[in-house]
Amino acid sequence: MKNYDLAVLNGIVVIPYVGQARCDVGIRGGRIAALVDRIDPAQAEDVIDANGKVIMPGAVDSHFHLGIYRSLSEDAESETRSALVGGVTTVISYFRTGRHYLNKSGPYREIFPEVLAATDGHAYTDYGYHIAIMTADQLEEVDWLVADQGVGSFKYYMFYKGLNLTADSTRGSEYIMSDTYDLGHLYLLMEKVADVAQRYGTKGRVSLSLHCEHAELIRVFIERVQRSTFKGLEAYHHARPPLTERLSMAEAVLLADSTRCPINLLHLSSREAVEAAVDAKHRYRHLDIRLETTLHHLALTYATAKGIGGKVNPPIRTEDDRNALWNAVMAGEIDTVVSDHACCFEEQKGEDLWKALPGFGGTALLYPYLLSEGFHIRRLPLMRVAELASANSARAFGLYPRKGTIAIGSDADLAIIDLEREVTVTPEVLLSAQDFTPFEGMRLRGWPTHTILRGCLVYAEGEVLGKPDGRFIPRPVGLHF
Ligand SMILES: [Zn+2]
Repeated sequence: MKNYDLAVLNGIVVIPYVGQARCDVGIRGGRIAALVDRIDPAQAEDVIDANGKVIMPGAVDSHFHLGIYRSLSEDAESETRSALVGGVTTVISYFRTGRHYLNKSGPYREIFPEVLAATDGHAYTDYGYHIAIMTADQLEEVDWLVADQGVGSFKYYMFYKGLNLTADSTRGSEYIMSDTYDLGHLYLLMEKVADVAQRYGTKGRVSLSLHCEHAELIRVFIERVQRSTFKGLEAYHHARPPLTERLSMAEAVLLADSTRCPINLLHLSSREAVEAAVDAKHRYRHLDIRLETTLHHLALTYATAKGIGGKVNPPIRTEDDRNALWNAVMAGEIDTVVSDHACCFEEQKGEDLWKALPGFGGTALLYPYLLSEGFHIRRLPLMRVAELASANSARAFGLYPRKGTIAIGSDADLAIIDLEREVTVTPEVLLSAQDFTPFEGMRLRGWPTHTILRGCLVYAEGEVLGKPDGRFIPRPVGLHF
């Protein structure tokens, strides 16, 4: 009988909030069983030599959209496969009723089991779901979702009340399949989430995520831009300018103050938005506000992401916005960096900017991009990279310390990374179903050579190994801080 199922030897282990150490990692029963100076290889069934490499906690990509534009099962399979390429071992995906996804509305008591059944057996990573409460009836399901279903987080889209303005002229209520989706609905939702956060909070954080853009302003700016000479992604940036993020954020934060609801301000995209969010965090110190930005808002501008494949909400913006976001990351103001992964084919983007579906994938680049630009260029310590991509998301969404760290007893989710490996991004290296990438041509330095999920080697040297064995992880689990 050997002591360990797997041992990872000779690497540098990066532990969020602690630091880094040269040590061997012993894994037993899917969990980390030992972090010691030296493990005798004869004591392990399997051994991986990580000499010259760093071992990071598997990334927790807490902003994902499984099944938004195609079958949930197919999407789960191909897109979590892509996640493994970048060392992501847990994804938390947004789900809502209405247009796209399962294309219907109704009670989550009926629909959520369908979502779980469609994902079960198809994901290569572990996963959880954030649920968007779209109707008045669904408000009554918040307690059940947390207490019985392991859903520890919710979502509200600030810009959906004006969806009668979308390019295909779909009426908003038809798109979201709800008639009462306004700030009144948000207020009631915040009351509910604040209540469950109080009652279940000792087991981990329960929160509401907000997509902040302002429908009524977007209507005016789209009309103005359509009469202008702006083209492509630059036009899209002007059609949904930073002011709309800032105004809707102000509304959301005021309501959070009134209800004491813990909130996450998602995908901050601009200088104006990040400055307003940091301001709100400092001004409302009694509130629990966490800030998120995305890979693409850190990495791309409307000038560098050519074509309309890079259409996304909120839009990709300017070099100044990108730098402001990086400064906030370096200053420790941004909590989490995510991919907002939404697999979308080139055909679904089409030729017409206003009709193109928003969103694209990027999960495979989470660690590679943060290591390239963060660690190599901007001197962001490895420990902070692990916090931004893994530990902070795990904490914010009730998964820590089962996920998000390398500690005795934690799930053995690891990304073994060669900091010097350089790869040019093409759709092929990402192993996603998506047939293009707005990151194409970027040369990134720092890629996983191996990804380990609960002690199983699931990705090695460009190949995914084995069957999709990812599990639904009910939240919240563990500590709250
Ligand atoms: Zn999203």
